[in-house]
Amino acid sequence: MALDPPTMLTITIALAAAAALYLAIEWGSVREPSLLFWSAGFATITVGSTLALLRGSGFLLIGIWFANGLLVTAHWLFLLGVARFTETRLSRAWYLVFAAWLAMLLLPSAEPWSKIMLLVNSLLVALLTLRASFLLRPHGRSLSVGAVQLRYVLLAHGLFYLAKTVLATLPGTFINLAAFRGEIIQISLVEGAMAIMLIALSMTGTERYRREKRIARLAARDPLTALYNRRALEVRAPRLLEEVSKTRQGALLLIDIDNFKLVNDLYGHAAGDRLLVTLSEMIRSVLPERALAARLGGDEFVMLLSDTSNEQIHGLGGALRGQFHQAASEAFPTPEAVTLSIGATLFDQPPASLAALIELGDTALYESKRGGRDSIRLVDRTRSSPERLQG
Ligand code: GH3
Ligand code: MG
Repeated sequence: MALDPPTMLTITIALAAAAALYLAIEWGSVREPSLLFWSAGFATITVGSTLALLRGSGFLLIGIWFANGLLVTAHWLFLLGVARFTETRLSRAWYLVFAAWLAMLLLPSAEPWSKIMLLVNSLLVALLTLRASFLLRPHGRSLSVGAVQLRYVLLAHGLFYLAKTVLATLPGTFINLAAFRGEIIQISLVEGAMAIMLIALSMTGTERYRREKRIARLAARDPLTALYNRRALEVRAPRLLEEVSKTRQGALLLIDIDNFKLVNDLYGHAAGDRLLVTLSEMIRSVLPERALAARLGGDEFVMLLSDTSNEQIHGLGGALRGQFHQAASEAFPTPEAVTLSIGATLFDQPPASLAALIELGDTALYESKRGGRDSIRLVDRTRSSPERLQG
């Protein structure tokens, strides 16, 4: 089967319609507005290509410029979708693209206008697409895999249209848009079909990757404090624990608020929540680089450190206890002091498991509570002598 323009247009219509439908269905479940813009873009290409095909078959319903102009509209919708995705505000100048295109419709379709029209159309598509690709460049934070794909597919598509613009300016280019003949049109139709597939695929990928990342992020966090939850800590701990050696000691600190129930009882649950958030912020602020922190549940938190020492743990625990006691006593005075008890373990060999480590921390924490609270107890497992608890 020869890839003549009617065949290519038919393929384009089928692909664009499928892409529009696919993105609309995706929007039905994901509800991201960008998907709707992109779906509308492909629907516009479906309509434009159908009009062009009908015209080619002798149904001169509407001027070829209208059909071609719909291609500009479609790319404009793609740009709007990318702007929504990246949460960027487009300058008003981009809306003038429409005005420019409408003005072109008034031009006669005879030469030399035919060529000028093609030139302007290609240039507008190139500008809209390259702008969309540019919006997807990384801004400090890394882009999802899907967004990177979309960025490069749009870049290639935009550069193709830029090349087409340049070619249209060359004298003697074999092109006859009104009659739908010419090498450039032939190549454009093939590129168009490919671009539809690649753009539609990377558009769905873009949203899906971001959604998956968002869900994974939410699943790993404690909703109140945004620290990792126990499950997320279990996933991340092994890498840190593997690094532990005689020269790179590791430590686990189990932190529990003393008399926390008093804050809940005297000031309400919301006040208790605020104090938990305050503590989480303090933990974050003293957390060394590469260390992990999590909320295990209730008023119990954990810090997991690598490359640490007995002195660093005491320094860190002391700072945390001091800051917390001051903040709690100022915000929520109680008959019995609301302070921190910390049970810590220092080790120089990777432990059997995180759970085993937490159990050791628990024993030390219990000792701290039993000893009158507001203190740190450290089980030092780096010594060859039997385990020792220190005050
Ligand atoms: P202790 O000194 O022995 O640690 O006693 P405590 O009063 O701190 O109480 P305990 O640690 O035994 O129990 C923690 C309490 O924290 C129990 C529960 O009412 C409260 N709690 C657990 N989760 C939350 C929460 O998300 N928000 C608030 N406001 N309170 C919570
Ligand atoms: Mg407590």
